[in-house]
Amino acid sequence: MPKRRPAPIDEPSPPEAHCPLCGRVLGTANIDRHHLIPKTFKGKEQFPIHKICHRKIHSAFTERELLQTYHTWESLRGHEDIRSFIDWVAKKPPDFYTRTYTSNKKRYR
Ligand SMILES: [Zn+2]
Ligand SMILES: [Zn+2]
Repeated sequence: MPKRRPAPIDEPSPPEAHCPLCGRVLGTANIDRHHLIPKTFKGKEQFPIHKICHRKIHSAFTERELLQTYHTWESLRGHEDIRSFIDWVAKKPPDFYTRTYTSNKKRYR
């Protein structure tokens, strides 16, 4: 009879994923994926990220800047513009997204 290897302790119940940009819990709504290396440059790794954080990245940087300079979360978070965004978004609920507040629930009279 084969020896049973002790099972790895963490068969993880899915951990609360956190946004690599702002550090808040991701939640379940308005999640995007970001390629640190843009797909155009053969980047394969994608990271789940808040949609709003994702949009912020792409409005702050061009693909070329992302490729050349801002291809790590540290460098992204070190940018002044992103830092003030993180401060601002820190107070919002995880699924906060500026464009969704009208679309989820239509109010009927
Ligand atoms: Zn975020
Ligand atoms: Zn992206």
